[in-house]
Amino acid sequence: NLSGRLAEAARSLTGKGRLTESNIKDTLRQVRLALLEADVALPVVKTFIERIREQAVGEVVGRSLTPGQELVKIIHAELVTLLGSETAPLDLRAQPPVVLFLAGLQGAGKTTTAAKLARRLIEKDKKRVAMVSVDVHRPAAILQLQTLAGEVGANFIESQSSEDPRAIVDRALDESRRTHVDVLLVDTAGRLHVDDDMMNEVVAVHERAKPHETFFVIDSMAGQDAVNSARVFNERLPLTGVILTKTDGDAKGGVALSVSEVTGKPIRFIGVGEKTDALEVFHPDRMASRILGMGDVLSLVEEIEGKVDREQASKLAGKLKKGKGFDLADLRDQLQQMMNMGGMAALLDKLPIPGSVNTAALKGGADEKQLKRQVAIINSMTPGERRFPKTINGSRKRRIASGCGLQVQDVNRLLKQHQQMEKMMKKMSRGGMQKMMRGMGG
Ligand code: GDP
Ligand code: MG
Repeated sequence: NLSGRLAEAARSLTGKGRLTESNIKDTLRQVRLALLEADVALPVVKTFIERIREQAVGEVVGRSLTPGQELVKIIHAELVTLLGSETAPLDLRAQPPVVLFLAGLQGAGKTTTAAKLARRLIEKDKKRVAMVSVDVHRPAAILQLQTLAGEVGANFIESQSSEDPRAIVDRALDESRRTHVDVLLVDTAGRLHVDDDMMNEVVAVHERAKPHETFFVIDSMAGQDAVNSARVFNERLPLTGVILTKTDGDAKGGVALSVSEVTGKPIRFIGVGEKTDALEVFHPDRMASRILGMGDVLSLVEEIEGKVDREQASKLAGKLKKGKGFDLADLRDQLQQMMNMGGMAALLDKLPIPGSVNTAALKGGADEKQLKRQVAIINSMTPGERRFPKTINGSRKRRIASGCGLQVQDVNRLLKQHQQMEKMMKKMSRGGMQKMMRGMGG
């Protein structure tokens, strides 16, 4: 994987005072492979690597860094620059109804994203929101928007599949003005592939709607196709931003880079799930870290700070940092936190865990019921046993199991899990992960 490759590349490049054409060659080859693996489109990879080469050659290696780290730093900085440097909130400074327009291929997530934006505008910005669909080709699509509008509390403006999309827009604008709507979201039709009919239609609708923001919605799993669709939409529509959906899936973030490179437009939001609250502001630095495989540490910090008390978070960070003294009482604290945060799997996915650590076993007991049982097991131990799990022998295991109404093998499983966790923390505390973890203490 990418982090592995970069770590490898960074290690192989040591003890040199200056970056040179020859000493970065191998690393750049690794980075190139890594970016391709992360699904960045080939032409984008090429120009990106070229730019890194130009920047890196001749660069003096900072005193506290190895040349490999210096190079990774340059790559990270370039990624952040390319991805937009800073976050851009919704621009609503216009005469209402402020029109927001969503375009993109079928299945990209336009309709879902429209509902997410509506919910955000209603709940956070206290706006009156209306939604309209011009997807006249698929009656089911209009119905889908209607259902979602009801769910998030937005006005739904009806449209018929027999209507001209431009007439629908005119009507929606009138109705929005009449009913003092602050923001009107226009959801459009998409095809599976870019074609002229679709583009002509979407351009015609766009001209009528005169939107304040025009978003290109793209699936983060789009892979190499991202370049082509992004280019066409960017050529035909005056995009103000990109929304990247389904980042909760397996995609490694490469599409973010491809789309930024091709359109030059900022990614504004990311979709992180199917539900209407699963929309987040895009953070270029986090996506850069994700593409580089460092794990979404910053998001994790926010999550921890939001849902768990700060003291606990810094205690956890301290434990992780030291990578030792992680006993069963700490595991219990963590299990309780995980119950608040959507389970072990969600947590593990966000941590910068080295590829050499097998997390499958840890992810096994992810559900809430399982977490509760594990906490119950730890509760029926003595404080001494929590501190020194190794002292728990067969007869104590039976006592503990009967104390919480479970089986000895449940106790064994928990002890095994703790051991793996302890091992993982030790590994993470090596190899330069401490610095990142320290950030978790706030
Ligand atoms: P449209 O054709 O562009 O309007 O796409 P839809 O909004 O209908 O979405 C297509 C599918 O993708 C639906 O099943 C959505 O639930 C799903 N989807 C959209 N956004 C996300 C996301 O951020 N995460 C996940 N997991 N699924 C999403
Ligand atoms: Mg749709």
